[in-house]
Amino acid sequence: MLQSEILPWFQDNLLSVIAVIITLVLIYHYLIEKEQGVKLSKRFRDSIFEVQSKIFLNASQYLISGNKDLAIKEFLNAVDLNRETIDTYFALGRLFRSNGQIDKAISIHRSLIARENISESTRVQALKELAIDFDKGGFVEKAIETYKDVLKINRDQFEVVHSLCRIYEDIGDWDQAYNYRIMLSKVGHDNQAETISHILVQKAKIHFEKGRFRECAEDLEDAFRFSPSVSANILKLKLNLVQGKFEEAKILLLELLKEHPMYAAFIFVSLEEFSSKSKSHSDYKERLELLKNYYLEMDDVDLNASPSVILSKIRLFKNINKTQDAYKLLHDWIGKNSNQSDVIKIEFIKLLIEVDKKDEALAQTHELLNKLHSSLTRHFCSHCGFNSDEIFWRCPQCHNWETIQFRWKV
Ligand SMILES: [Zn+2]
Repeated sequence: MLQSEILPWFQDNLLSVIAVIITLVLIYHYLIEKEQGVKLSKRFRDSIFEVQSKIFLNASQYLISGNKDLAIKEFLNAVDLNRETIDTYFALGRLFRSNGQIDKAISIHRSLIARENISESTRVQALKELAIDFDKGGFVEKAIETYKDVLKINRDQFEVVHSLCRIYEDIGDWDQAYNYRIMLSKVGHDNQAETISHILVQKAKIHFEKGRFRECAEDLEDAFRFSPSVSANILKLKLNLVQGKFEEAKILLLELLKEHPMYAAFIFVSLEEFSSKSKSHSDYKERLELLKNYYLEMDDVDLNASPSVILSKIRLFKNINKTQDAYKLLHDWIGKNSNQSDVIKIEFIKLLIEVDKKDEALAQTHELLNKLHSSLTRHFCSHCGFNSDEIFWRCPQCHNWETIQFRWKV
């Protein structure tokens, strides 16, 4: 059988494979018990084995006739008889789940929960497994409900609380996401302050988009109490603009840029996202333009040394068709800063073309191409991409033979 055929075959015949395994386990237990012969009388042992054998015979018949549901039922009956095989029960459920047969996993875990003679911890475990079944199967509401049932019995369940956090974040229920994240910070040892700040910013964002600026400010204040994340600061900037607090906006922008200059471009892209048709929208746009001008004229030595800040200023200049200003800014910057990335160089060449300085554009392009070419290695592996100037017959990284490729350098 080819390797590619084994996996589908195994999946199709999973139940049969499990049947054989469980039978072997039970025979093993039978033999062990027979050896020890202490707990049960021989007659009783034999009768248990007889019942089990009958059940597996039935189950196998159901399997042959293709009735998998009845086959499972028979298996579950069999496991009932032997308390030691409860782990097999769980293993079977997990196998079905990982095999995508969620309905079968659910029926196993449900029948386990319904049993009377099991310990509390086994019941909680089964309930947890059932919740994971629903979760994996995409039954969001049922997953939430079942995870909560687990917590009703035992609140100290990190993974369960974590799963609830993930689900509520996925569906954007930020109130609940907040509640469970707080709970998680109590159950676990990790500091959740940053995440809680992000969640509160998400809550605040919804208020902002709906025009509820007072509620937005409240949630944002809470977010800052947990952690002054970049996202919290950007939303505060927006709030300042919409509320006409222009001086505060200027100070906040400067502080934010000084602390995180690499976010410069992102900050302005975020500020431009404001979808509202109300009057506050036109006020906002006007103030945002003022803030951009303030930024473009800002002549802070520290800030202007950052390539991110320069690139974001160039983008803003280009957006308002001030190509000459963009060119002049970058030209001066390149003169003062020796450490230039390829991104800066490419941007400069584009600007040179736009302001019609073709000779210089050509010279700069030539220089850039030479630099790019010399940074490449002579050889590389066609299988894994390993780079080297040396000749290699066997790739040192992926160990394949004769995968070397040449870059045809002159
Ligand atoms: Zn390789």
